[in-house]
Amino acid sequence: MDDRLIRQAARMLQEARRIVVFTGAGISTESGIPDFRSPRPFPPRYNSDDLTYQKFISHERYRKIYWDYDRARYPAMRDALPNDAHRAVVEIERTGRMTALITQNIDGLHQKAGSNPALVYELHGTVHEVGCLHCHTRWSREAITDRMEREGIEVPYCEHCGGPLKVATIAFGQSLPTDVLEESFRHAQACDLFITIGSSLVVQPANLLPPQAKRSGARLILVNLSGTPYDNIMDVILLGPAGPTMKAIMEDFGRISAGGGD
Ligand SMILES: [Zn+2]
Repeated sequence: MDDRLIRQAARMLQEARRIVVFTGAGISTESGIPDFRSPRPFPPRYNSDDLTYQKFISHERYRKIYWDYDRARYPAMRDALPNDAHRAVVEIERTGRMTALITQNIDGLHQKAGSNPALVYELHGTVHEVGCLHCHTRWSREAITDRMEREGIEVPYCEHCGGPLKVATIAFGQSLPTDVLEESFRHAQACDLFITIGSSLVVQPANLLPPQAKRSGARLILVNLSGTPYDNIMDVILLGPAGPTMKAIMEDFGRISAGGGD
């Protein structure tokens, strides 16, 4: 870890007034949640072609495959615990200067770490809720899975309108929620510091958030295991695991804030 770059990042945090944090799969791998785009996705026996939104709405058979798949992947996310990087983001929020926490993750670990849900923008939805595709009523995941187990249901339908129920994540082929996306870009445009943690910035349109922030005059920090296509616009690049890196930044930030300076 480069102490000079850690110090530089901590200083930027100190000087910022409107901070946006953007997180990807890399922030949750240290909590034991594999990256879906990694070479060994989980669970391995499912074919992503069978899990598209179009298939889900087309036929009961695919809804069953989808629910099987989702039930197989859910326990890892339900039982996962936040790590030092999630806790560092909570510390950033406590400065009172974080305006938004935008995430590509569906695991809910930011909220579990203590992040204010009102500041969290989940671009890909959440595994912890289930929604009706017709009337858009939402339930907690546990309420629906309890009902499925109790009544032996493999594919759940809405008790109000009979519409198909789907976990509130964005499936392959399903468009991102427009309101969440618009708010995210608005925050990126209005911030003066944009921190990317654990994203390789290869998935559109989320990877367009850092350039949006840059165009509006924000400074950019990247914390990730590897480089990204946007390294040329980053002000500080910290290559390394999210947990230890973010912890080091916040320790330095604490020293500066306490008057330790250089
Ligand atoms: Zn409904």
